[in-house]
Amino acid sequence: MKYKEYTDPKEAIQEAGRLGSTHSACASRACPTCKQSAYFALPISAIKAYEAGALIQQAFPFLSADQRERFMTGYCQKCWNELFA
Ligand SMILES: [Zn+2]
Repeated sequence: MKYKEYTDPKEAIQEAGRLGSTHSACASRACPTCKQSAYFALPISAIKAYEAGALIQQAFPFLSADQRERFMTGYCQKCWNELFA
């Protein structure tokens, strides 16, 4: 299954509810430039692994590289493109 990122935390919470008690909504770091966070509905076990210090690609192998970058650094696609493209 594919995990989506949401701009509205309510949507991530709803999605986590659909996925059941194994999943929880969580926010990425806020974008350093525009201060927006992305929200995901992710497996609680993966969130815990990441918080415990697992490498992000080990904790979240099911996210795309872009999504992992977003989660870790907070940079959204728009700001990333403006800064680095
Ligand atoms: Zn941004």
